[in-house]
Amino acid sequence: MIGNGCWFEFDEVRGKIIIDGPMTTDLSFAAEEMQKYVRRAHGMFLPIQRGVLSESTQNAIVVRIMAERLATVEEDGFAITYRNGNVFIEGNGIRSVLYGTYRFLELYAGMRWLTPDHEVIYEPTDRKVWIEERHDRPDFRRRGIILEGVQSASYAIGVIDWMSKNGCDLLMMTIEFWDEHQAALRPEMQARQLRLGLGGHSLDRFLSPGDYFEVHPEWFAWYEGGRVAAQPCFSNQEGIAFLIGRIVDYCRQEPDMDTLSLFPNDNKYFCQCPSCSTQSFVSNYTTFLETVRDQLEADGQSVRIQMLAYNAQIEWTMLESMPEAASLDVMVACWGRDYRQTIGSPAGDRDERFRRIVADWGQACSQRYHSSLSVYEYYADYWMMTSLFPPLARTICKDIEEYRSMGVQEMICLLLPYEKSVRIMQEEIMGLPRENNLADREFNSETPVMWLNLYMFARKLWNSSLDEAGLIDEYCRAAFGQHGDTGKTLLYALEQQLAQLTVYNTRWFKLRYTDVWIRDHRSKGKAVVTGVSPWAKEEDEPEIPAERSEVSRRIVEELEDVWHKAAHQGAHSDESTLLYQALTQYFRYVIQKLRSIDKQSSAQSKLIRQETEEAMSDLTEALQIETEIRGWDALHFAHRLRDPNVL
Ligand SMILES: [Zn+2]
Repeated sequence: MIGNGCWFEFDEVRGKIIIDGPMTTDLSFAAEEMQKYVRRAHGMFLPIQRGVLSESTQNAIVVRIMAERLATVEEDGFAITYRNGNVFIEGNGIRSVLYGTYRFLELYAGMRWLTPDHEVIYEPTDRKVWIEERHDRPDFRRRGIILEGVQSASYAIGVIDWMSKNGCDLLMMTIEFWDEHQAALRPEMQARQLRLGLGGHSLDRFLSPGDYFEVHPEWFAWYEGGRVAAQPCFSNQEGIAFLIGRIVDYCRQEPDMDTLSLFPNDNKYFCQCPSCSTQSFVSNYTTFLETVRDQLEADGQSVRIQMLAYNAQIEWTMLESMPEAASLDVMVACWGRDYRQTIGSPAGDRDERFRRIVADWGQACSQRYHSSLSVYEYYADYWMMTSLFPPLARTICKDIEEYRSMGVQEMICLLLPYEKSVRIMQEEIMGLPRENNLADREFNSETPVMWLNLYMFARKLWNSSLDEAGLIDEYCRAAFGQHGDTGKTLLYALEQQLAQLTVYNTRWFKLRYTDVWIRDHRSKGKAVVTGVSPWAKEEDEPEIPAERSEVSRRIVEELEDVWHKAAHQGAHSDESTLLYQALTQYFRYVIQKLRSIDKQSSAQSKLIRQETEEAMSDLTEALQIETEIRGWDALHFAHRLRDPNVL
């Protein structure tokens, strides 16, 4: 809501930042952030004072807790108001006062925080500004990021800082990561009052098979005639009591936790014992979580327990079966979407199924369970998106509008960083030892692309009526300066061309479009996924390389066309921002990588057809490209060139 306006002047002499009100809530971080960015944008130092405003005070920026909650301002909302020559930024707590502070700095100091490493003055403002009163609140109750596979506390701290600046409130991570880095992360979370979510596939942490499977096999799942350590048996009273006791103990010593998400272990070995078999796995799991919730409540703890519905190993049972009754908040994760299309306008059967599932859960939560529905998305998941990571500005914006209309009240996005995807490739798939210089392998597009996705995500969750064209215009001007229009053209071309590759992640599960020289055991018809194996021409389905080659070639043509046109608008200019340079480098990398994938796939087709000499020529060309871009495939198939017998 925007109300009346008034002039306010940033004044070097009389100006100050005042922390008003009771000392019980420490607003010094908000005041320091205000001081830091007013200095950066307006070049003046405003001192920070504590205490109540006097009658004669002028040109002050006052941060304070609202005296009483305004009806229009919900938990995370804030107000920017104006009285007697002073500005007031008010919220119900540290978190919302900070949101108000950063919003004020965007509006009246021109600041934008695009990535953790790129804060820019988007449009310089005058020292005298027209302030409009506003009461602002987010459209989504929780706006979160899940960190997975992050190695360092410093990366997580960058995310924490960025989240607060862009209106996010919930950061989830694994219990292991939190336990290891909490000394560094806790003060950063507390300063911003971000909500801490813990969990993931962490049942093993509380009921370790290593410690208990041998002693108490009956605590674990009965599966095809024997006990397996893969899941607990949810009917064994003694085992479950032990497990819940451990969970309650952990929560007791972690008072900062807002949400605990206890996912089942990431496999489908659900207990088949007679007692568990009387109802569905989802019902057993729901009952278990409700017991955890009740015992936490009895223990006087206010941790929120969330249940998860997702397609583990692309099995649909857990995603689709809804318990008759449930009283828990629900998180739904649809793994394997085709990101060319938005959730509400699906292209294929699989995506239509996802749309229906989210709509059904939305209805169940609002009408039967009376609980909150959260959607878990993959917009920043490097493993899923591969080294050909697509910008998803259009999809994300439309998705969020559609999710909202389906009754979704919270969203959380997985951030699996580039570095982790490199490690999975190197260590788990290729079996190579760790090396230190991982960073320049293939292309790290977090800066020009992944953070764009997260920026759109955070902005839309706060205000879902923001239009996508306006948002992307603003981002491109802030990020690319004078090259804003060209940058936008390049981003949209990448979105249009690369988003279509996401569909292959599930069609070829669990390989991605970029994994040319490995195959999934599943593709050989085994019921249980056990891993991946090297490419073998005698086992391959010829349509896979043929299709991959054709798609790559088509995209290269489209992107080259865009690149040549952009070149006329100065795409190669030296006078550009770092973000613009990163984008153009990525654009050229994508063309190179797809050329290489085309050549390699074409070689595979020829090898299947016994056209060895022609295949060698394709591979030689691809190897040259891979060497230039430090691609994985240089390692994957180089030996095939050295030793034709392997062919
Ligand atoms: Zn059982």
